[in-house]
Amino acid sequence: MREGVSRPPGLERTVGLCLRCTHVRVVTSAKGSVFYLCRAPTRPKYPPLPVLECPAYAPADETDAS
Ligand code: SF4
Repeated sequence: MREGVSRPPGLERTVGLCLRCTHVRVVTSAKGSVFYLCRAPTRPKYPPLPVLECPAYAPADETDAS
């Protein structure tokens, strides 16, 4: 993980590859639940987590300017 990018401890273990994938969209419900929506056309919209292997995984560019 790039220095300066912080995530709650344990997320890497509970979410897996989706956490760093360009296809993921993080959806937060009105009650505060967090879902990882996969936008890759060949994968399920809500894959069982953690995703440890995925043929559609594409690492996201974490070099944003913030
Ligand atoms: S393509 Fe795979 S790793 Fe990426 S968000 Fe979808 S299920 Fe997760």
